[in-house]
Amino acid sequence: MFNLILFGPPGSGKGTQSERLIAKYGLKHLSTGDLLRNEIAGQTPLGMAVKNLMAEGKLVPDEIVIEMIDAAIENNTRVNGFLFDGFPRTTAQAEALDKLLAQKGTEIAIVLALQVSQEELIKRLLNRGRTSDRSDDVNEEVIAARISEYEKKTAAVAEHYKKFGKVEYIKGEGNVDDIFDLLCKEIDEKKVA
Ligand code: ADP
Repeated sequence: MFNLILFGPPGSGKGTQSERLIAKYGLKHLSTGDLLRNEIAGQTPLGMAVKNLMAEGKLVPDEIVIEMIDAAIENNTRVNGFLFDGFPRTTAQAEALDKLLAQKGTEIAIVLALQVSQEELIKRLLNRGRTSDRSDDVNEEVIAARISEYEKKTAAVAEHYKKFGKVEYIKGEGNVDDIFDLLCKEIDEKKVA
């Protein structure tokens, strides 16, 4: 299995690049944001429990997302590998993920970290808010809360994987195709290594 984490702040292009990467490498896309939004759309008890936190731009509790990812990994046995998008978002989530993968006899091969300036992030998120149904992209305060959660809790995830030499930084600004090529280059280098 080849498992990768697409890492970066909200608005850094993880969703866009994920779609292309899963198509090229035949990976299973696991986006905790999408999974949580599905729970809300289905009005499940889990969805109801996380709705307000998400609307405020706050992270949902670790136990909830870890449980959700655990189930998703269990439900996808015959896959080439997983692309984790928006997860892990805390050190506790990263440690839990490492453990879950180790139980399956596999691990994270690479963490691809997209780097985008703060001004560009806010611009992109507000723009997405005008064209999508993501209510958390409409309000500048909620966007600021998400970026703040990223800096306070999520940035540490890169430090966790740096200890294992697994992090590669990619400039996430410019042409979408060029960024995709840079991501593929890192993956291909890791695959033959
Ligand atoms: P973005 O990267 O644009 O913030 P996501 O779709 O990844 O969008 O996440 C949307 C929201 O879902 C987050 O602001 C947070 O409330 C919640 N969420 C998603 N993934 C996680 C996670 N791994 N841990 C905690 N909360 C999460």
